[in-house]
Amino acid sequence: RVRVRFAPSPTGRLHVGGARTAIYNWAFARAMGGDFILRIEDTDPERSTEENVQVILNAMKWLGLDWDEGPEVGGEAGPYFQTQRTDTYAAALELMKERGSAYPCFCTKEELDAKRAAAEANEGGYAGYDRTCRGLDAAEAARRIEAGEPHVWRLRVPEDHGPIEFDDAVYGHVSFPAEVMDDMIVVRTDGSPTYNFAVVCDDANMGITHVIRGDDHLSNTPRQILIYEALGLPVPTFAHLSMILGPDGKKLSKRHGAASVEEFCERGYVPDAMVNFLALLGWSLDGETTIIDRATLCREFSLDRVTKKDAVFDETKLEWMNGQYIKEMGASAWVRASLPWLWRAHAGLAADEELSEDAISRAAADLDARPEWYRKLYPLVAERLARLDEIPAKLGFLFWGPEVRELDEKSVAKVLKKEGARADEALAACRAVLADEGRPWEAAPLEEACRALADKLDLKLKLVLQPLRVAVCGNMVSPPLFESIELLERADVLARIDQVAK
Ligand code: GLU
Repeated sequence: RVRVRFAPSPTGRLHVGGARTAIYNWAFARAMGGDFILRIEDTDPERSTEENVQVILNAMKWLGLDWDEGPEVGGEAGPYFQTQRTDTYAAALELMKERGSAYPCFCTKEELDAKRAAAEANEGGYAGYDRTCRGLDAAEAARRIEAGEPHVWRLRVPEDHGPIEFDDAVYGHVSFPAEVMDDMIVVRTDGSPTYNFAVVCDDANMGITHVIRGDDHLSNTPRQILIYEALGLPVPTFAHLSMILGPDGKKLSKRHGAASVEEFCERGYVPDAMVNFLALLGWSLDGETTIIDRATLCREFSLDRVTKKDAVFDETKLEWMNGQYIKEMGASAWVRASLPWLWRAHAGLAADEELSEDAISRAAADLDARPEWYRKLYPLVAERLARLDEIPAKLGFLFWGPEVRELDEKSVAKVLKKEGARADEALAACRAVLADEGRPWEAAPLEEACRALADKLDLKLKLVLQPLRVAVCGNMVSPPLFESIELLERADVLARIDQVAK
């Protein structure tokens, strides 16, 4: 049975590179009918925080990457935090001792630093630990340990080890010379495991069959293979993923703007689009399909369609894709996903303005009182949103009540001032139509009656409708005018016209 894991270190937020790694592991597990495990590699006490763990778990949940074993869900191979697995590392060290594949080293930091400095001054350079303690007599070593002398445990790299080779599922055949492999430390003076040792112990104890991770770990792999061998354990299949680059060809980072999943969420991207987009950074279904839903991804994902070419993060494409998903998501899902921005629109705030608790509860109460009205906002913008954070700017006018709160100056100049008396005339005529209580307050009849004014006044249609649009929406660019008007109160619309016509 296939078992894969995503193993983030909680030293920061979940970055898009990490998210892609998580998606590949998750999709691979689903496609293979295997298990997807989430393991938190919190062995760096200085940089790991509880808050980052939460942020990562939330990002995973937001993306919809459900894990079969890990934090919050548990599992037989737990615990799933490295800091809670100390006894397993101690047991692995015992096994290595029994197998003669680890030895204690008593060299002090000062001694090692001096050797390194001396070697570096020489032409050959530092070739790693010189194995001073490797030949220590076992009885003497035992005596020094007994006496409490500080020591680390090192891996005994076999003398006659040939090249370390493996077939990477993405990179193909990879080979590293064993001679350059240091007798690396596996357990530090304080008894804590080193990074590579902990990863191997965990992957082995958790029964991981495929290690899918970023290629920044490629150089760790030969070391980890040596540790598997030292433990006498089977080596899993490795799949290293290429880097994600920014548009400038440099490794994607903060410099390129948003880099964490959380930021993309805050900027109004929807999880389905995010998963689809990230899945395609290095994997393809058939080389051409761009919209791939979760079900397809989980059915069709395979490692042999993962490329080793670096992928370029193109945010324009992500925006386009996001728009595609928004267009398809349907009204109820849209309202649910859009809450933070609908609340801002309700409170008269811009997308990047802070919401108070108070404003949220007032907006939430409004939504409770008229959920159908909120769902009706969706068709106004379904095809016009690239990101959900455009909602306050695009739909804010629907929450103004009787007042035109933001009147775009350019629109006033271009539509009202330039046309002067004709704009006033058109606006007055539209007002009369909208004031007529005999006509149902629905988009179609209102639109028909207003359009008819063009003939009656002998004005171009645009000249009739644009002033009305500016009066109702504050702007000459807006969602469909009469569908918008239908969602407003008649009295409010008339009041806005009066305000602008003055
Ligand atoms: N904890 C490592 C990281 O955050 C991942 C290690 C691995 O996947 O082997 O980069």
